[in-house]
Amino acid sequence: MKRKIAVYPGSFDPITNGHLDLIQRALKIFDHIVVAVATNAFKKSLFTIEERMEMIRGSLVDHPNVSIDSFDGLLVKYAKARKARAILRGLRAVTDFEYEFQLAMMNRRLEPEIETVFLMTGLRWVFLSSSILKEAALHGGDIEGMVPEIVFQKLREKFEMLRKA
Ligand code: ADP
Repeated sequence: MKRKIAVYPGSFDPITNGHLDLIQRALKIFDHIVVAVATNAFKKSLFTIEERMEMIRGSLVDHPNVSIDSFDGLLVKYAKARKARAILRGLRAVTDFEYEFQLAMMNRRLEPEIETVFLMTGLRWVFLSSSILKEAALHGGDIEGMVPEIVFQKLREKFEMLRKA
């Protein structure tokens, strides 16, 4: 039987407990999830691709059904190459909807064979985004419990380095 594979794309700058919540939910539906860090995002990032992948890997040990990769170029092309039947995206508050809707429609137009699947995050993570998290951490806010331990340490190191620079 064919394995059901989903690609979960994003910036993951850095990965949060919200992203992990989504991956756990998706594992109930799919046989394999490819967490794919987008390298061509226009967004300015805090962490390098390698750092982001290392944090994802460190957060997902003991998860044989999840693999970590990076990609550039067209997402649907990448998903097809990975033999994925779906693109996984998370929905938090209503504000995510418009952008995600446009993205999903564009991807469907580009590649009708691949479906976008939206899962709703756990209530605890509805207001959690990587950008707000970074903002809080930068100003010394306590972000423990919102990110995996490895990310907590890396954020602390990163901001200490930036403060010294
Ligand atoms: P992007 O730049 O593609 O939005 P992100 O890393 O911010 O990359 O998000 C990747 C995916 O994870 C998106 O579908 C986003 O909606 C989802 N996501 C982000 N934060 C959370 C969260 N707290 N709970 C569930 N899903 C989330």
